[in-house]
Amino acid sequence: MQPVIEFENFTFKYRSQTEPTLKDINLKIYPGEKILIAGPSGSGKSTLAHLLNGLIPCSIPGESAGKLTVCGLDPAEAGVFGMSKKIGTVLQDTDGQFIGLTVGEDLAFALENDAVDQESMKRRVDEVAEAVGMEAFLSNSPSALSGGQKQRVSMGGVLVDDVEILLFDEPLANLDPATGKRTIQLIDDILHERNVTVIIVEHRLEDVLYRDIDRIVVVGEGQIVCDMAPDELLSSDILIQEGIREPLYITAIKHALAEEGKGRIINPADRPAHIETMELAPYSEAVRSWYRKAPEKPAPVTGSACLEVRDLSFSYEDSEKKVLSDISFS
Ligand code: ADP
Ligand code: MG
Repeated sequence: MQPVIEFENFTFKYRSQTEPTLKDINLKIYPGEKILIAGPSGSGKSTLAHLLNGLIPCSIPGESAGKLTVCGLDPAEAGVFGMSKKIGTVLQDTDGQFIGLTVGEDLAFALENDAVDQESMKRRVDEVAEAVGMEAFLSNSPSALSGGQKQRVSMGGVLVDDVEILLFDEPLANLDPATGKRTIQLIDDILHERNVTVIIVEHRLEDVLYRDIDRIVVVGEGQIVCDMAPDELLSSDILIQEGIREPLYITAIKHALAEEGKGRIINPADRPAHIETMELAPYSEAVRSWYRKAPEKPAPVTGSACLEVRDLSFSYEDSEKKVLSDISFS
């Protein structure tokens, strides 16, 4: 099978930088794969992403060496508009991506650009709004939505075009863990329904791993540190070495094993990528014994509170819906 994305000995330097930001990247991604790109802040993940959709070098200039092919095209030649027919990008800051005054208008924008007739436009917008669970919000203003809802609209916006690749740059950054999980589920549903290739750039590994990932590509200081199946990567210490937070249960298991003097070894065959389905038996005794040794909880804080909230309710001026109801805490 031909890769849908291929970097060959690819190096890129921003015009304003003296050193290359990406160095000698070799990476192949095949149709239908779901890839997680992880790496600490400043490692070059967004640069990699922007090379795929043509934003670099079309809007942000720089010099590159080597070869990049996306859906058979060179993004530098195809340009941002050309690439938008092949690859849909959802950015971390979704606010800047809205064009329409309403959710419906926003979703219709790509179709208006393509001069599609009214009937099919309406049908397509309804279809996409349903796919991302926003059908009840079509006449709402995008600015009056929650972070998670905005993200669903952005996702709908890229689905309107029949793209081959969906690219998410830190999709969970502004979301709480529960909404993050719903987003990961939605991405998974879209992947299975439309048979697209999905690339998720994210350092919140534990949340992304809520659903299966084929490979995790770790980027460190502009280079590919490793390209592995999640089970193998979580068994290793690469994440910690690269300054990426491991899922909490992995850290706990490795810590407990070390306390027992057993070394920090998790067997990839025990499927550590998902705690729900991981084989925990080989580790449970170590974790229990570590837990028994852990100090008791600290005593509760006493004295007067610096912030106290009692029975607080709130709704926005133009809405019936109670956003907060009877909140109390100190
Ligand atoms: P990440 O997404 O992994 O946090 P980025 O790809 O955004 O990392 O940034 C990698 C490096 O490239 C950083 O050192 C950053 O300063 C530099 N960089 C990012 N965007 C630009 C730009 N538009 N112009 C010049 N340098 C940039
Ligand atoms: Mg980034």
